Amino acid sequence: MDIPKGQTIVVIGGGVGGCCTALALARTQQFQIYLLEKNGELMRESSDATPGRMGLGFHYADKETALYYLHATLEFTRKYGRFRQEVGRNETLHPLRRGRYFILKSSLVPVNEILDTYDALKEEYTTMVSEDPSYEVFGRPEDFYRVLEPWEFEEDVATEEIEMGIETAEEFLDWSRLRRFIISQLEHFQDKKMVEIRTNSEVTEISALEDCGAYLIKAVDLSAGGNVEIFAEVTVNASWYNIGKLNKMLGISAFTRKRCNRIKAIITVQLPEALVHMPSMFFCMGPFCMFANKGNRVGMLTYAPETNMAVSTSEELEPEFEHVFFNLSDDEKCAKGQKILAGVSKYIPKLKQAKVTNVKLGIIQTFMDEDTIDFGFKVGNLDLLHDPHVGGIYKRNYSGVEEPRPGYIINACMKLLYCFDNAEIVKDLILSKSAEGSGTESN
Ligand SMILES: Cc1cc2nc3c(=O)[nH]c(=O)nc-3n(C[C@H](O)[C@H](O)[C@H](O)COP(=O)(O)OP(=O)(O)OC[C@H]3O[C@@H](n4cnc5c(N)ncnc54)[C@H](O)[C@@H]3O)c2cc1C
Repeated sequence: MDIPKGQTIVVIGGGVGGCCTALALARTQQFQIYLLEKNGELMRESSDATPGRMGLGFHYADKETALYYLHATLEFTRKYGRFRQEVGRNETLHPLRRGRYFILKSSLVPVNEILDTYDALKEEYTTMVSEDPSYEVFGRPEDFYRVLEPWEFEEDVATEEIEMGIETAEEFLDWSRLRRFIISQLEHFQDKKMVEIRTNSEVTEISALEDCGAYLIKAVDLSAGGNVEIFAEVTVNASWYNIGKLNKMLGISAFTRKRCNRIKAIITVQLPEALVHMPSMFFCMGPFCMFANKGNRVGMLTYAPETNMAVSTSEELEPEFEHVFFNLSDDEKCAKGQKILAGVSKYIPKLKQAKVTNVKLGIIQTFMDEDTIDFGFKVGNLDLLHDPHVGGIYKRNYSGVEEPRPGYIINACMKLLYCFDNAEIVKDLILSKSAEGSGTESN
């Protein structure tokens, strides 16, 4: 291979976080970028397990997180709004573009606290639109959310569980289309020899070369066998649940905040006729439960008491955790799928007629509050996780980008829709250093 000009940057992890980072760096045309992904394809893990909620903040009890998410989604949608789910595209108030939230009688957050956050979101959207009309990507501010009359939902949900119903401007992403777009852009830069995408390449070692400030990255080629070594002036660790493990190789732990990794299952169902035109619904705040209507008779469901399968707050993931994530049998997945369907059906009885077609597992990572309980490793009963106030687990009021040592940047993409903003933060960090040098590779 040619020895590239410009700085060499290695991005570890080809999820949405790593891919968008590689893309943003490639667009500067200043670097030689290696994107290393251990799987055979890009963006097939947690990034591929989401329903693609374009969250406007209604999901969160923490007001700062709600507002951060709103901003990220608005920025994302201004630039990439064309990747929204097509369904109902021609009608501003189409039911499939009006995600509903139901506050449960058993909500762990009082209704007035929730509505206070919702009002803050509406006010923020209104202000942003009035200052810059290009932010009006989710319809008129006055339609941002409204409280539903009981007759508008009583045929569809178990009303005895519901304190209040709310209609919002929340929509869903067409993730498959966005994924294809990101890959095609990366391939374009690969053709121009600015990015080298290496799938089936698992990073097993990182060491800092103290004399020159560079890093030596070692990866195993999982398809052809053998090892690859790359010297990089800058390393971006976007390996999500493996961030802690790789950090540890550089002696980093005290610098970064405590992470919590949580395995989350999500199922795809074929919808019965009665639900084909039903808006997406979200039941909160406590043991969350969700029905996303993806159009074409496809729904995606989560039900927190079954969906949360394992949690770990260790720096390096325990083998049991990895076992649940990678090695669950088809029968175990099938059983999990039925339990999730049964759970959501308690709130949306017509779902009992739905048919489970797929069960996927992904990982959610968050930072933990410093002074909070340490979950350690747990599988099974994860009741503690359900309280939206617990331990910072339901906060995402930060990007997840950190630079714990010069030239070593962590990009934990806390929400799918933070991907482009995060990539810009990483790019700006690297450009601001404007370090010089070139990289070499040896096989
Ligand atoms: C069930 C579920 C639902 C979600 N719903 C939403 C939603 O509606 N809206 C939203 O905005 N967000 C949602 N999220 C969150 C979102 O999916 C994540 O925040 C985001 O996908 C994380 O992206 P990532 O690139 O950091 O991680 P990943 O997509 O997991 O990518 C990390 C990559 O690193 C690779 N890797 C790991 N270790 C190594 C190594 N040693 N060497 C090489 N490669 C390595 C992995 O194979 C993986 O491909 C959801 C997440 C889950 C699990």
